[in-house]
Amino acid sequence: MPTSYLMHAYSRQPVSFERGSGALLWDTNGREYLDAIAGVAVTNLGHAHPEIAAAIADQAGRLIHTSNLFGIEWQERLGARLCALAGMDKAFFCNSGAEANETALKLARLHAQRRGIAQPLVVVMDNSFHGRTFATLAASGNPAVQQGFAPLMPGFIRVPFNDIAALRQCAEEHPDIVAVLVEPVQGEGGVHVASPAYLQQLRALCDVRGWLMMMDEIQTGLGRTGAWFGFNHAGIVPDVITLAKALGNGVPIGACLARSTAAALFVPGNHGSTFGGNPLACRVGCCVLDISEREQLPLRAKQLGEQLLRGLQVRLAGHPGVRGVRGHGLMIAIEMAAPCTPLVERALRTEALLINVTRERTIRLLPPLICTPVQIDQIVERLSRLVLLWLTEQAAAAVSAQPASVALAGG
Ligand SMILES: *Cc1c(COP(=O)(O)O)cnc(C)c1O
Repeated sequence: MPTSYLMHAYSRQPVSFERGSGALLWDTNGREYLDAIAGVAVTNLGHAHPEIAAAIADQAGRLIHTSNLFGIEWQERLGARLCALAGMDKAFFCNSGAEANETALKLARLHAQRRGIAQPLVVVMDNSFHGRTFATLAASGNPAVQQGFAPLMPGFIRVPFNDIAALRQCAEEHPDIVAVLVEPVQGEGGVHVASPAYLQQLRALCDVRGWLMMMDEIQTGLGRTGAWFGFNHAGIVPDVITLAKALGNGVPIGACLARSTAAALFVPGNHGSTFGGNPLACRVGCCVLDISEREQLPLRAKQLGEQLLRGLQVRLAGHPGVRGVRGHGLMIAIEMAAPCTPLVERALRTEALLINVTRERTIRLLPPLICTPVQIDQIVERLSRLVLLWLTEQAAAAVSAQPASVALAGG
């Protein structure tokens, strides 16, 4: 490798891709790969979607940017469509997930000001991930994200995920809580699903206490879990939701949607973004919604997710090296008994398959929602072969590392 002039913020795999089509990618040597992570839940419509490419080209030939000093027709349209889909009243557009959550957290502060609370707290969850900016890394329940960035922004209080008793207890102890920020499925945290009952009880608690219920749908939103939004599974509607990842299918865009009083908190001067909601990004967002609606992608994610989960459970569940196989729509995790990060590189090399490992021992799959059932079977085939071979090797290495007497005693 020649000297890189990029800051060493990422540990990158030794592969670069040159082009893609649907769920397939080709590297700079022309080798074909199957993509089971979709750029971390971003390219839900697959790579090089012809309608998205055409929309980008057409809009780039008309107008990319004018700033929010002026009206933006595509921003109005995308805002209206997202609000209709999510049951929200107003939208604010930005450029990333972290910025969408920053927007939500600023709404929580204004909500506190309205209520005369000077030192407000936002409840956040253990094991959560909300981004890398100062506010969102403080909100994230992952010490690795916070490491080295003290002092952290104050104003957060942490509770265990999916535990309504802990939250009620917290409410008793802290009268200055103004909002709760929660993922319907913890993604980076390893695919942990909030139960519908928990979200319903959380909704009720927010109503009683006057808290804003804020849901981070950045990874789960727009079909990934088998419904348009993760909260749909619980039959509730939050006060604020945040979106990003899949909204632009790779073109950077984020959104914070709010309803009722939360939708009316901002006045000019409170918040803004130079790029946020530009004509190009918003036109692509509308195109993503057109395709997702027409192809019924939430339903497709539900069906393909069931196929993928069943396939992996049949091959891997019950194996001593596998703690469990779980999922929600096309968010799937295989929890291993021991760290397995090297599997990411191995999957690329030996199976031409893109996977992710989070929290050291959780294999995470986020295939594009436009996968074919045949491609889902290929993911099952390649991944289970890889995992079973890995476990056999790990077991053999463990035996040979033991003293001879123990190895013999163990048979
Ligand atoms: C990816 C993600 C974020 C951060 O989004 P960025 O675009 O990387 O800032 C926040 N919350 C959740 C749940 C995510 O999955």
